[in-house]
Amino acid sequence: MLTLRRLAVIPTLRCTLRCRLCCNSVPLYDRPPLLPAEEVAADIDAAFALADRIEWFQFVGGEIFLYRDLADLIARAAAHRSQFDRLILMTNGTLLPPPGVCSELASLAPDCEVQISDYGPLSPRVRDLEELFARHGIPCRTKIFHGDLQHYGGWVDNTSYAFRGYTQPQVQELFRSCWQIRLANAHMYRGRIHPCIRSLFGQDLGLIPVPPGDYVDVRDLSQSREEKREILARFGQLPPLACRYCGGFDSLRAERFPAAEQAAP
Ligand code: SF4
Ligand code: SF4
Repeated sequence: MLTLRRLAVIPTLRCTLRCRLCCNSVPLYDRPPLLPAEEVAADIDAAFALADRIEWFQFVGGEIFLYRDLADLIARAAAHRSQFDRLILMTNGTLLPPPGVCSELASLAPDCEVQISDYGPLSPRVRDLEELFARHGIPCRTKIFHGDLQHYGGWVDNTSYAFRGYTQPQVQELFRSCWQIRLANAHMYRGRIHPCIRSLFGQDLGLIPVPPGDYVDVRDLSQSREEKREILARFGQLPPLACRYCGGFDSLRAERFPAAEQAAP
């Protein structure tokens, strides 16, 4: 039995904001694509064919409501309803959802949730979104990231992909204290599932030489299902190579910065 606690699918990294400390490295991408819906849908099927269970199945961006075919992707995930506990969307509160999203989510309620990041004046649709989802009976949670009430006290600056030259004990400590690992926060982009966002985007940006055993490419037909499942089962047990290029996500000790400060264009 292979259970993933969380899998976040990224249909696009395109965003309405450009946050300097974006942990998904959005400012490092030059106009990222909206991935073709059939491609992402096939990746979703492939992920559910690999894992027996995915407790929290999530859609994140970029800004997820920029993705016009989002309702189709939710419907595709819902076809695997017996394999996940909750479906979660994350949005930055700048846009209303594209057509069809509310009815797809309503059909999953109460086993779904929309998580809204409220960045104050940068997130003008927060109240509209809360009312919309309430009207459709869709669970919704707003996290405040402005003023004195910043969720988790603000953001961590983990934007550099420089090689850090850590010793092995330092790598182990970084990994042990990493909330990405504690939350088992696996992400999938372009069919590649990584144990953490740093490994995923470090590879995608060509900044970290991620070795084959650190991720699974659901589109790679040269690797067997069993081999892929073995790699997924090892996620979170040993530090990925990416830790050597990472400042870490230490939820207790890391310095915090104001959320959502915008980067220069
Ligand atoms: S809203 Fe900001 S933090 Fe979120 S994906 Fe966009 S740029 Fe990144
Ligand atoms: S590279 Fe290591 S420390 Fe950085 S987010 Fe991934 S697991 Fe955590």
